[in-house]
Amino acid sequence: MPTKHDNGRLLLLIPKTSYRAQDFLAAAEQLGADVAVGSNHRSTLENLSQGKTVKFNFKTTECGVEEIIAYDKKYPLKAILSVDEETTILATEASKALGLPHNSPDAIRATVDKYIFRKAIIKAGLPSPEVTRLTIYDDPITPARKADYPVVLKPAALSASRGVIRADYEGEFIAAFERIVKILHQADLSFTGEGKDQILVETFVPGMEVALEGLLQDGELTRLALFDKPDPLNGPFFEETLYITPSRLPEKTQDLITETTAKALSVLGLTDGPVHAELRVNSLGVYVIEVGARTIGGLCARTLQFGTGMSLEEIVLRHALGLALPSTEREITASGVMMIPIPEAGVLKSVSGEEDARTVPGIEDVTISIPIGQTLIPLPEGNKYLGFIFAKAETPESVEAALREAHRRLAFKISTELS
Ligand code: ADP
Ligand code: CA
Ligand code: CA
Repeated sequence: MPTKHDNGRLLLLIPKTSYRAQDFLAAAEQLGADVAVGSNHRSTLENLSQGKTVKFNFKTTECGVEEIIAYDKKYPLKAILSVDEETTILATEASKALGLPHNSPDAIRATVDKYIFRKAIIKAGLPSPEVTRLTIYDDPITPARKADYPVVLKPAALSASRGVIRADYEGEFIAAFERIVKILHQADLSFTGEGKDQILVETFVPGMEVALEGLLQDGELTRLALFDKPDPLNGPFFEETLYITPSRLPEKTQDLITETTAKALSVLGLTDGPVHAELRVNSLGVYVIEVGARTIGGLCARTLQFGTGMSLEEIVLRHALGLALPSTEREITASGVMMIPIPEAGVLKSVSGEEDARTVPGIEDVTISIPIGQTLIPLPEGNKYLGFIFAKAETPESVEAALREAHRRLAFKISTELS
């Protein structure tokens, strides 16, 4: 076990909306690593001791970088790691300013701004939907007339499928556009780059979707896990539900997915750290929908275990700290998660059937992550999950069946009256 001193101090950037604080801190503890947390919100920091927490202003990168430089003067940093997408630019710019290992800021920008990303993929000749870019100030009538339907409209710089809407004809295009404009006006955008008032129109890529979880080390991609998303994602909104690994796709297709992801990452110029990629597979090829310089979102990483019980967070921390990686081999058993969809808008009154759901063979845990009394906002406006169901079993098929059965046993009472 390395000593605290050898590890140096690692700064984890954790925005207040993160689901990931607890799991990253647990992994840091496991490693005996000297970790501090920088957040834009006090509650993320509550359980940490003095000096180990800093409140940063994430609103502008410049402010954040200055604050991190000041912190480093007091507590010298060895590395800075962004736990979620919204702090990846800050992490890389601050690392650059401090002379710490970092990805190229341009590469990180391409993972945050979907237009920069899409242009890079098209330029590299990788299979890709076509894209046009509008701003919220544009009149959608002409673009709606010219669009090559079906299309997907989406904000250039939001995440969690927020504001992503399929349109099959002009009327739907205009309605989707107007809906996204409203979302962008409301969104508590911590992202201050150019992309915040942009809306992309992409041709719709049919096919099944997968997610690849990986680690980049000096430009080399290691695939840590490949998840199938067995619920079809055909729109009009793209709510994520099931993630199941290992993939049931043929080995050859899985290899092609990994190769395509590796190419996309190298086109962007990403070299180190966690990556989460989403791809669509159809008879014409493998299409990268997006890549993030971060780990999988929500609590989904809890499905993953490596070597003799290492978490995904531990792998990422070990890499950031330059520690040895004993194994990146995922356990043999199949594993999966259901992000519980929000069935309708309203106030969550009660949740029942949790105990019953837990008794389904294969179910490991059921976590409701929105407190009773809170308002539920479904997609495309919302950006929270109702909860997570976790399962492990011998095969991906039995994991899927367990997750669906457990979900069937849950009941949510939602009051749609205005309170
Ligand atoms: P976010 O960053 O909000 O997750 P994405 O670009 O990943 O935005 O879009 C969310 C989901 O919408 C994708 O996982 C995919 O299912 C669907 N989607 C996005 N773009 C396309 C496209 N061009 N064709 C088909 N589906 C798409
Ligand atoms: Ca994203
Ligand atoms: Ca996505």
